[in-house]
Amino acid sequence: MPTEIKGLNEECGVFGVWGHEDAAHLTYYGLHSLQHRGQEGAGIIATDGEQLRLEKGLGLITEVFEEKQFDRLEGHGAIGHVRYATQGGGGYDNVQPLVFRSQTGSLALAHNGNLVNAHALKHQLEAQGSILQTTSDTEVVAHLIKRSGHLPLKERIMQALAMLKGAYAFVMMTEEKLFVALDPKGLRPLSIGKLGDAYVVSSETCALDVVGAEYIREVDPGELITIDKDGLHSDRFSEPLQRTLCSMEYVYFSRPDSNLDGVNVHSARKRMGKELAKEAPIEADVVTGVPDSSISAAIGFAEQSGIPYELGLIKNRYVGRTFIQPSQELREQGVKMKLSPVRGIVEGKRVVMVDDSIVRGTTSRRIIQMLKDAGAKEVHVRIGAPPLKNPCYYGIDTSTKAELIAGHHSVEEIREMIGADSLAFLSVEGLQEAIGSPKDSLRHGQCQACFTGSYPTEIFPNTVHPYEKV
Ligand code: SF4
Repeated sequence: MPTEIKGLNEECGVFGVWGHEDAAHLTYYGLHSLQHRGQEGAGIIATDGEQLRLEKGLGLITEVFEEKQFDRLEGHGAIGHVRYATQGGGGYDNVQPLVFRSQTGSLALAHNGNLVNAHALKHQLEAQGSILQTTSDTEVVAHLIKRSGHLPLKERIMQALAMLKGAYAFVMMTEEKLFVALDPKGLRPLSIGKLGDAYVVSSETCALDVVGAEYIREVDPGELITIDKDGLHSDRFSEPLQRTLCSMEYVYFSRPDSNLDGVNVHSARKRMGKELAKEAPIEADVVTGVPDSSISAAIGFAEQSGIPYELGLIKNRYVGRTFIQPSQELREQGVKMKLSPVRGIVEGKRVVMVDDSIVRGTTSRRIIQMLKDAGAKEVHVRIGAPPLKNPCYYGIDTSTKAELIAGHHSVEEIREMIGADSLAFLSVEGLQEAIGSPKDSLRHGQCQACFTGSYPTEIFPNTVHPYEKV
């Protein structure tokens, strides 16, 4: 799981089911396969048509749920969430789905992403008398929806969504309907599938596969989907804009068996490795990838360069979750515990170590040192993405600019700091080529802001990097 090693974290995964008698169990299995997107909290809320019932808690999905809880979660509709606690901070109250009950009915919300105008909206709501109970941006949306109570719910949701700026993939549910919405730029992934007559929605397609659902399509940027007893209905709350799906989903966050916007993640990563081998060739004896997310790129590098791919680094899967240990020192200890070099493979060899990113540089330095301690003659680092120079405001904890090593140092300086014999990053053009979706189509395209500094939405003067809120 990437979060355990990098200090580079996804902020959430959402999943929902409508029209299946065992909706809550399906949601549990769906969330389990989205666990890499957030490990600090999980929740499921279900409806039987009359009442919404919620179970949630802190920890992994397997720690939060026991079989007996599903006796309460009966019904044909359910939504669920796995959470990584940057935005709004940690704590039980912020674990989603959040549910808001009123005389006119209940509304449950689960959200992946980050709103760049949340701060301004919170001020506005509080000035108008709203009392916010959590520090989560999601609650802001619930209050916006509640505000114009005289309108039908769908209209109120459309009005509220039109006020939001930033990245959001929402699943929302009342006793009688499931709503699904994606921000106008489509920054976060969100797909719809079918399982018999039931509809399934998920942050990633891997979760559709796990529950046996057939992929139908992406949720369109700026689209609100309503699913109820009459089936699926689509509305637009924003005109189509150029899609800017997060590039880091391809590079690092999503599972290799997921397809994002029609592109398989493993295949895209392999192409990143191939492009990298073309852009920055090197003479070496073996290619190895830093597990797990860089294995695909390492295979691609090996294929293109003709240098054999070997398992030079092994990950120990049964080590505790270091992500709850925030200090740098503990992070570094975590790396040592989680990765081991394979001496028999690297000893006396010139090693190409393929990785997907360098965040602060401390992890890379330790891995290179481990390889050298295990006898590697040379370690050439090749990164399957451009340097991470800018923070993300859209729901990914890429650290603040001050912490990003490439925000302040040249490639040569970074090489020296991490102790590599050579270092090269993939170019922005190479990354785009590797992802391969058509550049001229409004429906496809990627955000590259953490590499280029060119943000696809307005960044408000008081926009806070999610990590700085905690
Ligand atoms: S800034 Fe980077 S991490 Fe954030 S959405 Fe854009 S590509 Fe993804």
